[in-house]
Amino acid sequence: MHKIFFSPGPSALYFTIEQHIKNAINQDVPSISHRSNDFKKIYQEAVDNLKQLLGIPDGYHIVFTNSATEIWEKITDNLIAENSFHFINGAFSKKFYSVATNLGKQTDKSEVPWGELPSTSMPDKSYDVIGLAHNETSTGVSFPLDQIAAIRQKHQEAILAIDAVSSLPVVDLDYAVADTVYFSVQKGFGLPAGLGIWILNDRCIEKSAKMAEKGLVRKSTHSLQSLVDYARDYQTPSTPNVLDIYLLAKVCADMLEKGIGIIRKESIYKAAIMYNMLDKHTRIFPFVTNKEIRSDTIIVANINEETETLIDFLRDKKLIIGAGYGAKKDKQIRIANFPTHSKEQFEQLTDLIEQW
Ligand SMILES: *Cc1c(COP(=O)(O)O)cnc(C)c1O
Repeated sequence: MHKIFFSPGPSALYFTIEQHIKNAINQDVPSISHRSNDFKKIYQEAVDNLKQLLGIPDGYHIVFTNSATEIWEKITDNLIAENSFHFINGAFSKKFYSVATNLGKQTDKSEVPWGELPSTSMPDKSYDVIGLAHNETSTGVSFPLDQIAAIRQKHQEAILAIDAVSSLPVVDLDYAVADTVYFSVQKGFGLPAGLGIWILNDRCIEKSAKMAEKGLVRKSTHSLQSLVDYARDYQTPSTPNVLDIYLLAKVCADMLEKGIGIIRKESIYKAAIMYNMLDKHTRIFPFVTNKEIRSDTIIVANINEETETLIDFLRDKKLIIGAGYGAKKDKQIRIANFPTHSKEQFEQLTDLIEQW
C-alpha cells in the first residue's frame, strides 16, 4: 500500500497523476522541443484549463517559472521601483520581505507573532508593491478575503501581490482585488514540484515597462516583459518543466470534471471534522485560536514535545503528516487538506489522532 502524504508540501500527488505520467511518457512529452507546436498546444491547454478552473478574468496573464520563490525575486526586480510593504505573520510572508530587502528595496512591514493576523492598517505613504500570504503555511493562518479587499480599497496606487501557494485551487479568490497572484504546484494541485505559476494583470505589465524605461529593472535572467512576450505565443524564454505543464493541464481538467464547487465543499467538510476533533482533544490543540482566521487547507496543532511520537504512530499506518515549521518543529504538527485527500482518508486520519 502507498503512503498517504498529508504533509504541507510536497504533498500527496493528485490521484489521477500516475496515469497522466504514463500517458506523457508514451507521448514523449518530456522530450519534445519547447519551441514545437506540440508544446504550444500543451501550454495553451494548461493555461485555458487553469483560467477556467480558477475563474481568472480577462486582462490577467499566466507565466511559468520554476518555483514560487523565484516569483518573489521576479516581483522584486520588475515591480518594486523603490519600496514595498509586507504583512508578515509567518515564515513565508517573511521570506518575500527578505528577498525584497536583500535586493536593496526599501521595505516596511507589519509583523505579528505566529498564529495571529496583522491588522490591515499601514503607514500613510504610497508603495510600489504590497505583499501578503493568503495562507501562511508555517502557521495555518488564512487572511480573510474581506480584509484583503479592504487593503486594496485603501491602497489603490500599489500593486497588490498575493501568495496563494497553499490555498489554491481551494480558495475562491476574487482576482479583481489583486494585481498578481502566484503559487507553485506541489501543494494544492498535487503535482511534482518544480513549476511556479505567476498570474499577473495588465497593470503589472505597464508598471514594469515604466520601470524598464527608467532603467530600474535589474538585468538578470528573464524580465517580466520577456516572460509575458513568450507567454503570448504559448512559450517560455528558457526550457520549462514541460512534464509538469502537461500534468497541470490534465489535473485542471480532472478538477473541472469533478467540479470546483464540490472540491471546495469537501475541503470545508474535511477541515471541520479535523478542527472539531482537535478542539476536544486533551493532548493536541489547534494552534490558531481565532476560528475566523483558521486555514482550511493547512491545519496546525500544538502538541507538547510529542510531535515525533505521533508522526511515527501515524507513519506505521502509512499516513504521513508534517512536523511544525522551523522553530516549531518539535512542538507542532501540520496537516494538509488538499483536493486529492478524500473524505474517507481524512476521516481515517481524524479517527486515529482522536484515539491517540
Ligand atoms: C511552499 C511555499 C512557498 C515556496 O514555494 P516553492 O515552490 O518552494 O518556491 C511560498 N509561499 C508559501 C505560502 C508556501 O507554502
